[in-house]
Amino acid sequence: MFESLVANHTLKETLAVMINSQRLSHALLLQGEAGTGKRTLAKLIAQAVLCQGEGPRPCGKCSACYKVLKGIHPDVITVGEEAVRPASFHIDAIRQLRQQVFVAPNEGCKKIYILLNAQNMTLQAQNALLKILEEPPQHAMFILICENRSALLETILSRCTAFTLQPVEESVCAEYLRKRKPGLEDSAYLSAAWESGGNIGRALQILESEEGGKSWDNARELLETICGGNEFALLSALGRYEKQKDLFAQLLPCLRHLVKEVVVQKYERNLPAGDAAVSSTALGQTVKTVSTRLSALQSMKILAIIDTALLQFKQNVNFNLILASFCAQLRQMM
Ligand SMILES: [Zn+2]
Repeated sequence: MFESLVANHTLKETLAVMINSQRLSHALLLQGEAGTGKRTLAKLIAQAVLCQGEGPRPCGKCSACYKVLKGIHPDVITVGEEAVRPASFHIDAIRQLRQQVFVAPNEGCKKIYILLNAQNMTLQAQNALLKILEEPPQHAMFILICENRSALLETILSRCTAFTLQPVEESVCAEYLRKRKPGLEDSAYLSAAWESGGNIGRALQILESEEGGKSWDNARELLETICGGNEFALLSALGRYEKQKDLFAQLLPCLRHLVKEVVVQKYERNLPAGDAAVSSTALGQTVKTVSTRLSALQSMKILAIIDTALLQFKQNVNFNLILASFCAQLRQMM
């Protein structure tokens, strides 16, 4: 009944039991990195709660299920869509919510609030929400969605039943992509699955955008330059990105996946059979070549340098500083 969410079997079973025995908490927290299906799951839960069909919920066929899926059910209200930056989910949005929440639902038995980007709620917003969570009207239900729960008050967390969504295995991800976007080469599915680390949302983006393919090529080129050990070549390779912040930001996760795979190859001499398919792609080939040229320690160090840069991006550090420090650290290794 939760088929449209891939894998995450234990989570789906637990939720199904809670829903069908009517023991679902009035406040849920769905946590997981972007692209793991938090919104999909929130919609499924809303469907299950409001479903008017017979048998296991959601039936996926009744008008309530249809309306939730299409985003037109009057009792499913999404808040925080725009709050994509830290501390941009303000108290005003919660005040507005509080004004509406006590009004009875229109069609269903419950009124469901889906709070996106919950990690970006200001302290005031969280405190205002806490008051509602402490004494909610009978008909209200809240689904908080966040990438990282650490930004939320302990008092809010303690009121929520939390579920964590995980990226899926790369083979499962590739299989899913094949069904969603049939007609492409096998290597395209495998590459996207691999590049995204089994994150379905990201894998779909990669598959759909030419940029994704480009980022991949850029990452591969850069990694080969790093292995080359030529300082001048490295400087000019990174110089390309001085005015291309977005391009570099897209390249970094790809580069990380490549280097991570090199590390894995270094430590696991006997690869399981499943990896053979990946190794036969162009990406796998690069990993193979690179892993003969870097030591295990070097590849670990590069991974750490990439992680630092990724973290700095998240913290909104000035891009020139990120690039300069990335470059300096790599040069030290050469
Ligand atoms: Zn239904």
